[in-house]
Amino acid sequence: MTFISMKQPLFLFLLLLSSIGMYQCQQPATDTETTTQTDEFNWVADTVADLRILRYQVPGWDQLTLDQKKLVYYLTQAGLSGRDIIWDQNYRHNLEIRRALETIVSSDKGDRTGAEWQPFMSYAKRVWFSNGIHHHYANDKFLPGFSRTYFENLLRQTGATLSEDALTAMFDPEHDRKKVSSDASGDVVAMSAVNFYAPGITQAEVEAFYAKKIVKGDKTPVSWGLNSRIVRDENGQLKEDVYKLDGLYGPAIAEVIKWLTLAAGVAENEPQRKALELLIQYYQIGDLKTWDDYNIAWAQATEGDIDYIQGFVEVYNDPLGYRGSYESIVQIKDFEASARMKVLSDNAQWFEDNSTIMDEHKKANVVGITYNVVNVAGESGDASPSTPIGVNLPNANWIREQYGSKSVSLGNIIEAYDQASGGSILAEFAHDEEEVARVKEFGALGDKLATALHEVIGHASGKLNPGVGTPKETLKTYSSTLEEARADIVALYFMMDPKMVELGLMPSLEVGKAEYDGFISNGLMKQLRRLEPGKDVEEAHMRNRQLIAAWVFEKGQPDNVIEKVTRDGKTYFNITDYDKLRTLFGQLLREIQRIKSEGDYRAGQALVETYGVKVDQALHQEVLDRVKPFNIPPYAGFINPELVPETDANGEIIDVKVTYPDNFVDQMLEYGKKYSFLK
Ligand code: ZN
Repeated sequence: MTFISMKQPLFLFLLLLSSIGMYQCQQPATDTETTTQTDEFNWVADTVADLRILRYQVPGWDQLTLDQKKLVYYLTQAGLSGRDIIWDQNYRHNLEIRRALETIVSSDKGDRTGAEWQPFMSYAKRVWFSNGIHHHYANDKFLPGFSRTYFENLLRQTGATLSEDALTAMFDPEHDRKKVSSDASGDVVAMSAVNFYAPGITQAEVEAFYAKKIVKGDKTPVSWGLNSRIVRDENGQLKEDVYKLDGLYGPAIAEVIKWLTLAAGVAENEPQRKALELLIQYYQIGDLKTWDDYNIAWAQATEGDIDYIQGFVEVYNDPLGYRGSYESIVQIKDFEASARMKVLSDNAQWFEDNSTIMDEHKKANVVGITYNVVNVAGESGDASPSTPIGVNLPNANWIREQYGSKSVSLGNIIEAYDQASGGSILAEFAHDEEEVARVKEFGALGDKLATALHEVIGHASGKLNPGVGTPKETLKTYSSTLEEARADIVALYFMMDPKMVELGLMPSLEVGKAEYDGFISNGLMKQLRRLEPGKDVEEAHMRNRQLIAAWVFEKGQPDNVIEKVTRDGKTYFNITDYDKLRTLFGQLLREIQRIKSEGDYRAGQALVETYGVKVDQALHQEVLDRVKPFNIPPYAGFINPELVPETDANGEIIDVKVTYPDNFVDQMLEYGKKYSFLK
């Protein structure tokens, strides 16, 4: 419900951003692939099978005080200390298998040159990536591309050991082959390899167990089963083996508590400290009522620059949806995004007054909309290496309703995805070198400003005519496409306004031109790579981008504002006049605002159906053919930055430095050494 996951294939990434209702759209006005401004930073560290291993940066680190740096450091250490838990939760043999892999990889013995070594290393990386031997997204067990004999030799040669059961788990294709089964025709508990239920326990038994606990009409129910494994007691009855200090996973939880206690000691404010103390208490006693108290305190702790997710949170890995997977995300406020937002928000009325919409549709007192962007400083458990791109918590509905919730997008993660998706695709679809150079220099800033304009100004702008129903009522299924289109065009229109330079938001209008280039080639071509052959455009953001790009392309034909160029059998769209294009954006903005203000369903429908839905099949195929050679693996995850404390002679921390490791295997081996607290 609440995680905007990046665990799915990449082409679903942008679709997903918008398809979750409670999530603010926080959607770049384009998905321009920009290459890095900081050219030295290598965003892609490794690829293996269907995975890419990326890196991310932590902007704003130097703006933190020493206590804030310590807080972030302690929270990330707490997160990593529980890392073993997710391995054991995912599958009962995972820890044992991981340790055997660690021993082999870190050894200098064994046959490391033969034909089976590379397949072995691929397997090890995939296991590390998925926190276990089942695919992190598809849930299927992946099979070794090397023989059992070869592996047993490696074990022997390096002194590693593995039980017969674990060897069977690795090599027998049928044994525990699905981590989480969703096959409703069978017993999903029995068919799932996930380690939330001891072997032999059935779905019916579990359902009966909780049916007895759940009180009908309870307005503040606890999250039953969230922090335990179900086992059989000596009489064969089901019981919960609770995750807590003196319970299941106790040794790891003790370490988590140790670091959380240090974190509470440097909390930024009282509400934050109180929340951390409740979390510690919850880990000590394992009481779900305390978990709710903690979530209430956490949801209300909104001041401060540092925040975090920590605990057994999301229940997707339980086929019955009770048990929470361990995870941790540590977040720092995005100071740059906040500053941009403030400048735009302070000038919201100027933008409203200078918009192209009709005077009667302008707000007299417009208020900019703020949205929350954070930067990740470290992740662990189920959130790492594969990570969500946004978080909206807590999960309990009654807490959300009564005490509020926090919704953030993980800015530096999204940026890293953007950067990593590569200059190659950019260059493939760019009309000329000038365009490529401009996007390289200004594309990243352009995307951020367009997003800020979209959110702060775009969605806040305009008003309905008196007596007209809400867009959902009047424009029905077209309302979200038209609303996103409206916000995007507001952004596009002002991206070429000298006011942006005057406000100090951009160095020159070259930033706006880069945004226009990216938007047009994306809306008319590039985004089609996310679509299966033969399909219409369905997702609201994709529709709105195509709608805008196709509309201005058509209306600009008489003046050749955007020319369609065919070169060596490839199609390009080249903007010949940026000012005229801006005027066209202004005209479309005026019309879409009119449609919304008047609730003109038929005009809205015509606009979307004419320009936003249908795909030129030949062009679509061309796009698919052109991106194919780049062969970008569909899934991605991240190497964490490393936080390194510096101490004085008394052992007091005097600073914490951030470094960016670039070797996935090394990080996994180091984590295995430093944070291995469970048997
Ligand atoms: Zn939006």
